[in-house]
Amino acid sequence: MSDCIFCKIIEGELPSKKVYEDSEILAFHDIQPAAPIHVLIIPKKHIASLAVAGAEDWNIIGQMQRAASQIARELEVVESGYRVITNIGANAGQIVHHLHYHLMAGARLSPLGVHN
Ligand code: AMP
Ligand code: ZN
Repeated sequence: MSDCIFCKIIEGELPSKKVYEDSEILAFHDIQPAAPIHVLIIPKKHIASLAVAGAEDWNIIGQMQRAASQIARELEVVESGYRVITNIGANAGQIVHHLHYHLMAGARLSPLGVHN
């Protein structure tokens, strides 16, 4: 996907502060952190969101969650707690249409819910 910023990060055409990489997954710090620790975990394959993941994608999506668990251990936030979420579509506020999990930690996070 030539116009996808996360594909450009994967290709090295845009910079990122990497925290984890393997053959299928990349994780890097969010450019506009919404918590003291805010990491994005993405598949190297372009998948627009969880809504369009196919049968061949569930393994990699499981691997993304395994990576989230590992990153949380490495960043030493397991005891204090952390959140892993993915936004799908307009009502969830998805702005980048390349599947990503947000891993947020480092402070008490606000409750999830409807925007006032
Ligand atoms: P979402 O609203 O779930 O689509 O979240 C997209 C996230 O990507 C936001 O938290 C942005 O701050 C983040 N983001 C956008 N561009 C970049 C970038 N070049 N490097 C790191 N994070 C980015
Ligand atoms: Zn992409």
